[in-house]
This record gives sequence, C-alpha cells and structure tokens, in this order.
Amino acid sequence: GAHNFAALKAVYERPSLRWILQPKMQLAFSGRKMTLQSKSSDEVEGSPFDHKGLLQSRELYQYVLETSVYPREPAPLKEIRAITENHPYFFMGTSPDSGQLIAMLLDMLNAKNTIELGVFTGYSLLLTALTIPDDGKILAIDPNLESYEMGLPIIQKACVEHKIDFKHSPALPVLDKLLEDDDNKSSFDFAFVDADKSNYGNYHERLMQLVKVGGLIVYDNTLWYGSVGMPEESVDKLIRPERSYLLELNKSLAADTRIQISQVPLGDGMTICRRLF
Ligand code: SAM
Ligand code: CA
Repeated sequence: GAHNFAALKAVYERPSLRWILQPKMQLAFSGRKMTLQSKSSDEVEGSPFDHKGLLQSRELYQYVLETSVYPREPAPLKEIRAITENHPYFFMGTSPDSGQLIAMLLDMLNAKNTIELGVFTGYSLLLTALTIPDDGKILAIDPNLESYEMGLPIIQKACVEHKIDFKHSPALPVLDKLLEDDDNKSSFDFAFVDADKSNYGNYHERLMQLVKVGGLIVYDNTLWYGSVGMPEESVDKLIRPERSYLLELNKSLAADTRIQISQVPLGDGMTICRRLF
C-alpha cells in the first residue's frame, strides 16, 4: 500500500537498515504515491537477503520450502507471512523452516506453558499458539505494540488468542518480576528468544531459573548471517555489534554445563538448549 512519503523514505534510508532493505527493496513511484516494493529475484542476487538463509543457493532453500515446509504450513501462518511482507522490517519474521522445527520440539515436549521474548508480527507466537493444547499459555513479551497488532487479527481469527498473555514491555523487567515469585521458577516448558541480541546473556541467566529441568530454551539468529564464522574485518560494520554479542553467547552456551545444546543451521541459526539440572 501507499505510505507517508517522509516516514517511508526515512526508514528506507536509515543507516542501520540500509544494508538490509536496499539490497531487497526499492522505492517505487506511481504519480504522487511512493511505495516500498520487493525487487525481482535477479536484483537481490548476492545480497544477504537472497532468501537462501545459510544454505548454498537460493534454489536449494526454495526446494526445502516448497517440498517440505509450505505444503504443511497452516493457513494462518501463511497469512502472517503475507502481511509481514509489507512491514518495513519484514526480514525479522521467523523463517518457516525454523518454525517447523519449533513446532516439533513443542510437540515432543508436550509443552503447555511457554514464554517468548521478541514477538514482532507474531509468526513464532501464532505457530506456538497453534501447537500447544487449548489450555496452554504463552507469555509473549515485546516493547513494540504496533507490530503485534498487525498480526493480531489473524491470531484472533485462528481462535487462539486466549492462550496468549502479551506484555507490552522490554523483556528483562518482566523476567525479573516473574522471578520474585518462587512459583514461577521451573514453571515453563519452553522459551523462544528472538529479541535484542545484546541481552541474550541476561535472558539466559533468568530463563535458566524459569524453565524447568528437561525444558528447552531456543535462541534465534545465533549464526548472524554467517558472520560469526568470518573474520571481523570482512563483516559489514552495521552488523558487527550483534555479531560480537552472539560470539560471546555461543561461547558461553558451549561452556554451560547446566545445559545440553545443539547449534542448528536453520534460518539464521538457532541454538537449542535443554536444561539438565
Ligand atoms: N519472533 C518474531 C517472529 O516470529 O516474527 C520475530 C522477532 S523480531 C526478530 C525481534 C523483536 O524483538 C522485535 O519485535 C522487537 O521489538 C523486539 N525487541 C527489541 N527489544 C526487545 C526487548 N528488550 N525485549 C523484548 N523484545 C524486544
Ligand atoms: Ca529471528
């Protein structure tokens, strides 16, 4: 749709987003209206938003999606993906192939009480809500209400809103508040962390108390566009700060004897942690 010119142009030109948006999107003019449109797949070739994730080629990623993921993806999740395409930060949505693994983990755990840090338009949230039982609960935390409200009508239409307790707040104070009540300790089966990367270490210490023994904490974006395996000089300056937080996190998760871990190269990389004691 058409947007306010100045606001759209400001988003498109923000230095922190330029490397992300401009390889994949372009401003298009029609009369006096300006819209942000996807470039054709040839035009995005070689950019980090080549839609290949961490795989070797865009074709291989498309193959995985078309063969194994899209045919089984519930319709409401397809709808969330479609509306997210129009969001200026569209690239933040959880990739559907990662979603498929998250759903399997939730089922294997018989997860009933879950927590999510970083909701955005709600792909992973709706996926969780569709997967857990009818009396299951998700505590979902995000300081950005606007994005959540974009996906909310789809969540309502899917009749799963009653499972969601949305907290419009940064995650850390909510976690600290939960920890004041001993009843909340070891009460969650599953946690999905997809929020501000600089706080992942802080979240880990708190989630290790909130998630029960045998429960899972899944961290998203732990391979950060593949940059964690590249020398710092060759990494775009704009993604270096998060890269350094993720390098630190990956090292500390590997050294944490309280958990079993698996680093999965799906989406942008996720690390599955299982609390052992
Ligand atoms: N899981 C989401 C999905 O499936 O679409 C994507 C989440 S997006 C990558 C990151 C989100 O983290 C944004 O919506 C942002 O507002 C949120 N965020 C940023 N700082 C946060 C904080 N301190 N606490 C919780 N969420 C935060
Ligand atoms: Ca993510």
